[in-house]
Amino acid sequence: MKPFVYDLTLEEWQAWMKTNSEAAFRAGQVFDWLYVKRVLSFEEMTNLPKGLRDKLAEQFEFVTLHEIAKYKSQDGTVKFLFELSDKNAIETVIMKHSYGNSICVTTQVGCRVGCTFCASTLGGLKRDLTAGEIVAQVVKAQKLLDDEEERISSIVIMGIGEPFENYEATMNFLRIMIHPKGLNIGQRHITVSTSGIVPNIYKFADENLQVNLAISIHAPNDALRSKLMPVNRRFPFKDLIEACQYYTATTGRRITFEYALMGEVNDQPEHAEELAQVLKAMPLSHVNLIPVNYVAERDFKRTPRDDIFMFQRILERNKINATIRREQGSDIAAACGQLRAKHMKNK
Ligand code: SF4
Repeated sequence: MKPFVYDLTLEEWQAWMKTNSEAAFRAGQVFDWLYVKRVLSFEEMTNLPKGLRDKLAEQFEFVTLHEIAKYKSQDGTVKFLFELSDKNAIETVIMKHSYGNSICVTTQVGCRVGCTFCASTLGGLKRDLTAGEIVAQVVKAQKLLDDEEERISSIVIMGIGEPFENYEATMNFLRIMIHPKGLNIGQRHITVSTSGIVPNIYKFADENLQVNLAISIHAPNDALRSKLMPVNRRFPFKDLIEACQYYTATTGRRITFEYALMGEVNDQPEHAEELAQVLKAMPLSHVNLIPVNYVAERDFKRTPRDDIFMFQRILERNKINATIRREQGSDIAAACGQLRAKHMKNK
């Protein structure tokens, strides 16, 4: 299979031009056609010589994201189920906020991490996406927003898959997204979320990026976390917190800890107290409390509203900053992996 045009960073385009005896400035032109003018064929790149366009067409492909389904929520959230060229399905979500549009992208077809509350992992991991297949989700969403003269202003890497298990593609995706000559998304407007793949938290800390890091923590101790997230057996709590401390010390940036509240599982006052004690070792931390989404194949109850506020109050009393995530798109099954799981079942 040929590589995708969106797989390459600007530097990689420059190297490709050199190898192919083309002038270096052609790389910038290609980048401009892809991300500023957002064309979908080589023929449209009219300032490139015909010979170069032919060579590009021989060696690269455009990503095709065929829309299988599109669901629009009452709150403006739009969820897409896309089919890739190999017939695998992925999900992408566009969310409307008062401060702009954000997109949630998928990094893998399925996921092998096995979090017990997540629909994305139900069929295991099929394959990693290439950087270009992640980029294509943003380009596609931006082209849709072009019609409304709006732009994608922030990105969350929280869709299907564990981005730190597809690390290099995720990093190339970030490099393409933040490049001033491309879509030029501000680094601080991008968040990458991991279940806690410890070696790659260290690697990410050393990338010299200003991109936000979120850790799915979901439990305050090893025993409960291992039950909810098998990844904790590979990378136990202590190692995870040490990696987070390294990240904060190296980057000076705070980490957001995602905590999905599951009724009577991890949402009791003692869990909040224990979590507060753990996070005291992380001076720059912030907790994002998420009322767990209903997944038909799973059996979690939602935490009552008052208990969510109580959990938040306990954290704050312990000087841990905590917010409650506003739910978006719950009427269209916008939680990660639910549409794909339904699609696979129907198939
Ligand atoms: S929550 Fe994320 S890491 Fe865990 S199984 Fe789902 S997609 Fe994978």
